[in-house]
Amino acid sequence: MATTDDSFNGMTEHCPDCDLETLHEVSVQIRTESLKKENAQFSREPYRVAECQRCGNRSSQRMNNA
Ligand SMILES: [Zn+2]
Repeated sequence: MATTDDSFNGMTEHCPDCDLETLHEVSVQIRTESLKKENAQFSREPYRVAECQRCGNRSSQRMNNA
């Protein structure tokens, strides 16, 4: 049947809710953040979103903190 399925980006990470190492589904979202309401300038920030496959807790983290 199917050999390696790369579509599910699963990672084992610590979940603060479960207080365990659990499987997380990891994805990247681009969020548009408005800096000022009057300003038409928006910054698009990539966020790394990890969803615990045990309890469904989602945590997002801004990626460009370099
Ligand atoms: Zn969890």
